[in-house]
Amino acid sequence: MMPTRVLVSGDPFPDESLHGFVLRMAGRNRMAGLKWVLDQLGRRSIAQLGEADESKIAYLFGADPHAVERLIVRGRWIDGMQVHWIHGQEVTRPYLLRTARPQWCPRCLAEFGYARVPWDFQLVTACHIHGAKLLERCPSCSRPLRWQRRSLLACTCGASLQNVSCTPAGDAELAVAGWINAHLACDSTNDPGTASWQSLLEGLSLDGGMRLVYAAGLRRDAGHRVGPGEARAGLTTLECRLACERAAERLGRLASMASDEDRTHLRQLVHLPALLALSQDGATAADRQLARSMLEVGLGVAPTHGRFASRSQSAQLALPGV
Ligand SMILES: [Zn+2]
Ligand SMILES: [Zn+2]
Repeated sequence: MMPTRVLVSGDPFPDESLHGFVLRMAGRNRMAGLKWVLDQLGRRSIAQLGEADESKIAYLFGADPHAVERLIVRGRWIDGMQVHWIHGQEVTRPYLLRTARPQWCPRCLAEFGYARVPWDFQLVTACHIHGAKLLERCPSCSRPLRWQRRSLLACTCGASLQNVSCTPAGDAELAVAGWINAHLACDSTNDPGTASWQSLLEGLSLDGGMRLVYAAGLRRDAGHRVGPGEARAGLTTLECRLACERAAERLGRLASMASDEDRTHLRQLVHLPALLALSQDGATAADRQLARSMLEVGLGVAPTHGRFASRSQSAQLALPGV
């Protein structure tokens, strides 16, 4: 059964997130929350919205079905892995997305008035339009922002999400955010960065680049043992910001002909199982090739049936794109 149509209709913005669109349209129709919308869609939670709701959402808000189709995050189980497609991009690890845990740029909400899809990505911790750090906790009540709130532009405590002072973002997080934005075609003017580590990302799929940054930056230090499930856990914006900084520093060292001593140290820092997995099941040949080169040439590690064996460390560093 089709839902009742709302009075104020509208289309999503090209780079708007699905949840942000639903909450924004509920607000434009003075609904003070999602309850009525979810009732109409037969859902208990906004997190349940998926491709089965596509036509209903378009009808409910009088929106262009093709524009809504683009917003929907699709999921499939492939070989035991839950693969998602968001804005036409394949994401092979669920923990690279954070669609259920909103974060925001106060200046974007103030200027544009909608939630942008890059904020749904775990490794996006900065707004590369405004050069500001993204937030995930309300500065007034300190609670994590939730989709279950009365207005897109305010926290559940009532505090404005627009009138919040912004902190300038760091170079590494801005570079990662800019790279992800460019892949989502959210900003065609994005200028590719010039840092040496960024050239490693050239030619990789969005999924491959994110997995590489994750593998390089996840471990805090050589003593940090990544436990089962830890790599899959949803990280906070701050944890991801620090991971981006570590990844930039470590990949920079790898890209600039690491010495044998440096390489030994980097082997203790990079999360090798994640890099090995990328070399084996990366979404594209370029993703798998770079991960393999990085393991074998960059780090002097040979993947052998899931175990690592040290090999000659005098090999020339010949990473594609460097
Ligand atoms: Zn912004
Ligand atoms: Zn609050």
